[in-house]
Amino acid sequence: MVALIKVKRWLFWLSWLGFFLFTTIIGPTLAKTSSPHNVRESRKLSAAINSGFNWEEKTSNLEPGISPSFSGLNSKEAEERYLIRVKGKQNQLQELASKPFDFASPLSQDCLDIIVTEKEIRELQTAGFQLEIIQREREAAAQALDPLYHTYEQTAAFLQQMEKVYPPIAKLWIIGQSTRLGLPIYALKISDNVLEDEDEPAILVDGMHHAREPLGNEICLAFIEHLLGNYGREPQVTRWVDDYEIWVIPILNPEGYKYIVDNNLASPWWRKNLRDNNNNGKIDPDYDGVDLNRNYDYNWYYGGSTNPADWTYRGPSGFSEKETQAKRDLALKEKFAISVTYHSYGEEVMYCWSWPGTSARAPDHDLIYEMASEMAKRISNEAGTGNYALARLSGANQSPIWMYGALGTIEFLIETGTSFIPPGYRVRPIVEANLKGLFYLLERLKGPGITGIIFDLLAHRPIEAEVSVPAIDNYEYIKPRLNNAKTGRFIRLLRPGKYTLLFTAADYRSRLFSLNLGQEMVSQDIVLIPEQAIQSQRDKGK
Ligand SMILES: [Zn+2]
Repeated sequence: MVALIKVKRWLFWLSWLGFFLFTTIIGPTLAKTSSPHNVRESRKLSAAINSGFNWEEKTSNLEPGISPSFSGLNSKEAEERYLIRVKGKQNQLQELASKPFDFASPLSQDCLDIIVTEKEIRELQTAGFQLEIIQREREAAAQALDPLYHTYEQTAAFLQQMEKVYPPIAKLWIIGQSTRLGLPIYALKISDNVLEDEDEPAILVDGMHHAREPLGNEICLAFIEHLLGNYGREPQVTRWVDDYEIWVIPILNPEGYKYIVDNNLASPWWRKNLRDNNNNGKIDPDYDGVDLNRNYDYNWYYGGSTNPADWTYRGPSGFSEKETQAKRDLALKEKFAISVTYHSYGEEVMYCWSWPGTSARAPDHDLIYEMASEMAKRISNEAGTGNYALARLSGANQSPIWMYGALGTIEFLIETGTSFIPPGYRVRPIVEANLKGLFYLLERLKGPGITGIIFDLLAHRPIEAEVSVPAIDNYEYIKPRLNNAKTGRFIRLLRPGKYTLLFTAADYRSRLFSLNLGQEMVSQDIVLIPEQAIQSQRDKGK
């Protein structure tokens, strides 16, 4: 026994030495020689260059796995965490739900699942909460990741394979690198004429802001497979691919996920990325990392925790993390009409928004609520007893809040499943159920609503303009909605009814457009006249 411990200790130091060598000598050297960022033959599409975004095309000689492996890296034992279920009165639980705890699932009728430390358990008990320990993290650690799940490297290989097999309709991009390890963040674009930036409505699907929630990745990959595999066979899929620009980011938090997997699930509940909060060059599971879904710069100040040790640490500033920057930059450029961000768990469709301290709803509440309900209706729960529930998302620094508040993209956050990493046999039914919700959204993009290109009358080129529905848009809560600056495309989903839209752009005469909308998607290009032209016409008349 003593000998075994000695061997273990020896192995431990050896692996630690390996990590030290990697981080100080081998890693940086590798980064210089074989990092994808330095691959010279990496061509960039003119679209990306023109728009000023420094994206990199995925290169075929990119070798996944150049990043450090974490086996034995836990030089410091992480503090034990517990998954607890808190019961109490609805108002008590609501109060608790507003605190920056690491919630495993959103608030349901009578309970709330939270990941806590021993200290927090004592605090909650002192505060009078009834709680039950569901699992210790170390118990969860004993279970290996089912091979059914795609690791980060397998996901990268899968995406590269998809691009290779379906080159006319699939294009792989690296939209950024993870904050600490510089791991590529992949986004697969699916569309006809995929190499072009077409003026088509765009939709985004992403997974894994949180490291411990790989169901999001599996849904993204199944979605990709469904679209590519059925293009040209299934009329519905063919239309989606032909008519839309579809973007999928399966793993937004690659280094956090890798930390879990390479550690053989020693920290299966890891949530954040790996930002070195105390700058000591080591991974301190009790101190490092930023909660990416508390890092979006919309009411950033009002959500998450300011304490780096907390698992909901929102980071030093809004968009401080390269992962959220990557999603932000893609979203700013594409101006997605709709998006879905997958999390786990809780079997809920979360939508925008509840506003801190007020009863204010999202300006587009009726539309958003309708879409959320229609989607939730189609996603059956695991127990087979019903469908996903609905919940409003608090209007602070989470991704859907920024997407909607800043850009007008209607983003839904879906809490999939009933645990973070369910056993393999339970994955497929969860994925299939969620795809049904996603397919509804793709269909909803066909209307009701209005879409078109905004043109300059004289130059007859697309221009960037603000599109508002004054009866709906409340600029106390949202930022002006802009169209796609490059293609001129605007799209505004609406419910049937009468609307007046206002189109404005600097140095152009504003324009109103009235609409009596039924069930269709009205296609209407908008021509704006430069003020200068109106002025010179006037001068001529004098
Ligand atoms: Zn999550």
